Amino acid sequence: MNRLIHTLALFALLLVAPLARAELKVLACEPEWGALVKELAGDKVAVYVATTGVQDPHRIEARPSLVAAARNAGLVVCTGAELELGWLPLLIRQSGNSAIQPGKPGHFEAAAYVRMLDVPQRLDRADGDVHAAGNPHIQTDPRNIALVAEPLARRLAELDPANAATYQARSTDFQARWKAAIQRWEQSAAPLRGVPVVVQHKAFPYLQQWLGLVEVAALEPKPGVEPTSAHLSTVLAGLKTRPAKMILRAAYNDPRGADWLAERTQLPVVVLPFTVGGNEQAKDLFSLFDDTVQRLLKASR
Ligand SMILES: [Zn+2]
Repeated sequence: MNRLIHTLALFALLLVAPLARAELKVLACEPEWGALVKELAGDKVAVYVATTGVQDPHRIEARPSLVAAARNAGLVVCTGAELELGWLPLLIRQSGNSAIQPGKPGHFEAAAYVRMLDVPQRLDRADGDVHAAGNPHIQTDPRNIALVAEPLARRLAELDPANAATYQARSTDFQARWKAAIQRWEQSAAPLRGVPVVVQHKAFPYLQQWLGLVEVAALEPKPGVEPTSAHLSTVLAGLKTRPAKMILRAAYNDPRGADWLAERTQLPVVVLPFTVGGNEQAKDLFSLFDDTVQRLLKASR
């Protein structure tokens, strides 16, 4: 009998051991959250990123490889605040994965941990792609990344307690390096304070608030609506009384509107990486902001 119990126990151990060692699989909706998970978890998790730095995160297709990644994920890390409204709910439904449903520990929304800007007073479809929770492009302020990192490290530890000490240690190390980097960026970006800018999409309110850039116009007549020639003409006329120093757009934006305005105003178009992988220089979170600040400074001189 003893022997039987021993054999059974051994069997149970053999069955359980590989499962216990199986790493946590993380599905990140956008590259910045994939990069943050890598900072916090190193090689303890496998990360699949749903979008690239040159894709519009508002609109992507739930392709089969993405559905498979959602099916296998123990954690999804997304911006939330309705940024992924057009594809994530469907993806989660199609995955059939109960662990990543909203409200479950396997569902993490970064926007829940930052102070949202541009929260609309009223919601009207006629206003375009306006989100009830506020502007979802929170990753353009590095202080928001720090605010998200802490609860995200805790969530990783909760879902994968075997590696909790690693997540804690990496989180402390990341926060220290990040804080030093923010000081560095703020020092070098000081000349940008008060610089007036035209934006293509309302993609940068957090960056503007962080660095003190002043948005004087947007090329999209309404958020998510491509620039029209009538609206571009209005912007061009407005710049005569309220001049700007540069035009900002994200790597994924169609260049035509910004180029049209640049031709007529001689303003530089600054194509910001917007997220990790938005250009060759933005390889991780640190180089994302190194590159962003450098591009802005170069255009402001
Ligand atoms: Zn947007």
